[in-house]
Amino acid sequence: MNCYCGNTILYSECCGKIHHNIYQALTAEQLMRSRYSAFVLANGDYLMQSHHSSTRPVKEKKEIIKWAKSVQWIKLEVLETSKGKPGDTDGIVTFNAYFYEKGKVDIIHEKSAFLKENNHWTYLGLSK
Ligand SMILES: [Zn+2]
Repeated sequence: MNCYCGNTILYSECCGKIHHNIYQALTAEQLMRSRYSAFVLANGDYLMQSHHSSTRPVKEKKEIIKWAKSVQWIKLEVLETSKGKPGDTDGIVTFNAYFYEKGKVDIIHEKSAFLKENNHWTYLGLSK
């Protein structure tokens, strides 16, 4: 069984490791994939932890969990990555996330910015 993020390895060997220890995300793409899997699992704590503190949507946490549970996640496609390697401190990942909402397929297309905080990758927000 593949990981929720689409990698052809077990969840426990992929995003599951990162959900237990965020330092296991060595690249911005791994962090991004782990956040997609956290949406699939409606893991609000991890979605907060993996968000940069300057943009962390603490007040919306409940709503985010509710929404994540209300849709059916289909798949993640990583389209492009720029920097975000183990030695970098910032990076950009462009992706499509597919889900069913109210009987229709919807896609989140996003170019996301990632920054290291406390020596691990975090999601900052939309890239400029
Ligand atoms: Zn994964």
